[in-house]
Amino acid sequence: MSNKLVEENARLHQQLNELLAQARRNQDIMQRYQAFDLKLIGASTFQELLDSIFETLIEASELDVVTLTLIDPEQEVRRILAELRIEVNEYPNLIFVDDDDTAGETMRTLRKPLLGAYSARSHAPLFPKTVLKPASVAVLPLVRRDRLIGWLSLGSLDAARFASNMASDFQQHRASVVAICVENVINNERLQHIGLTDPLTGVHNRRYVERRLLEEIVRTQRHGYPLSCLYIDLDHFKAVNDTHGHRGGDEVLREVSARIKHELRLSDALGRFGGEEFVVLLIDTPHAAALAVAERIVSGIRGRTVVLESGDRLQATVSVGVATLETAPRADDPAVLGQMLLERADAALYRAKKAGRDCVVSAFERG
Ligand code: GH3
Ligand code: MG
Ligand code: MG
Repeated sequence: MSNKLVEENARLHQQLNELLAQARRNQDIMQRYQAFDLKLIGASTFQELLDSIFETLIEASELDVVTLTLIDPEQEVRRILAELRIEVNEYPNLIFVDDDDTAGETMRTLRKPLLGAYSARSHAPLFPKTVLKPASVAVLPLVRRDRLIGWLSLGSLDAARFASNMASDFQQHRASVVAICVENVINNERLQHIGLTDPLTGVHNRRYVERRLLEEIVRTQRHGYPLSCLYIDLDHFKAVNDTHGHRGGDEVLREVSARIKHELRLSDALGRFGGEEFVVLLIDTPHAAALAVAERIVSGIRGRTVVLESGDRLQATVSVGVATLETAPRADDPAVLGQMLLERADAALYRAKKAGRDCVVSAFERG
């Protein structure tokens, strides 16, 4: 073989090796993206969605910072997440804005990915103080049914990573997938929330309280926090219905639940347990403090006349039974402990009724 041919051969050989290496790198990238897509599409809770975006996407794309900004008018999503006890504070890269104006005119009208150098003037709202400042960014508008729902912002410390002349079809596709997944997950959480809410009063329902009770019992077993339970029942409610009609009765239920809620902390749980019965779980609250809360509830309801839409006025009262689980052995079945706590509070309530109503009775008092 001539020298020329040997050289040519070696050159082709090297080219082939480079192409193969590139193909392997591409396959590796594809696999990481696929892993991200699968995780994202599989997310059914907000937590899973955030983990897939803030962990898997960052790794798959070798980015330095990713933020997700959601437009949340009326703070509805934030309220649902808070009520479902999802800790959004743990995610500094998750940003909520009240309207699409907050991020500025460029972002409000953005319908295609915007790639280029980071500029504080246009990007600062999407990369708040708490996060790393990138050198180049890709801002992906999230659009569902022609409505802008937020932005996914990808940042790299490499100034050449995103440039305005780069094709953005791939990012556009990613934005559509993320937008669908965000909407799905929010709808899912909304349904969850509806399934745990009492439609008449807007407080939680029995399912929620029973679920929370188990969680809180486990916490008591682990950390030894005392857990108190109030069983509340409206007095002579049949008579309220008879005098003011069922609709009047419903109004009273709404008013009473609002007054109970007013006396509670955010971490406590209030649920309508049945017709005119409510159960409250007081977290990390010893018995004496629970009795004081119960007294405040009773006097808060007794103390103010209820005025109905019809103009009718009435005096509602409630009776309350209070029970407390001070500590619980880890070996005990939480379901059994929970049932026992409820039964003790209910038995105390029964004694409050017998004692003449409009009062509080402790499960520890001798009946
Ligand atoms: P007590 O002081 O012993 O608790 O007497 P009470 O009349 O409250 O007790 P009782 O359990 O006999 O009556 C409960 C009433 O609550 C009967 C039912 O008509 C009424 N009720 C149950 N659910 C609802 C509801 O969703 N709306 C209205 N308006 N009334 C309801
Ligand atoms: Mg009653
Ligand atoms: Mg009752």
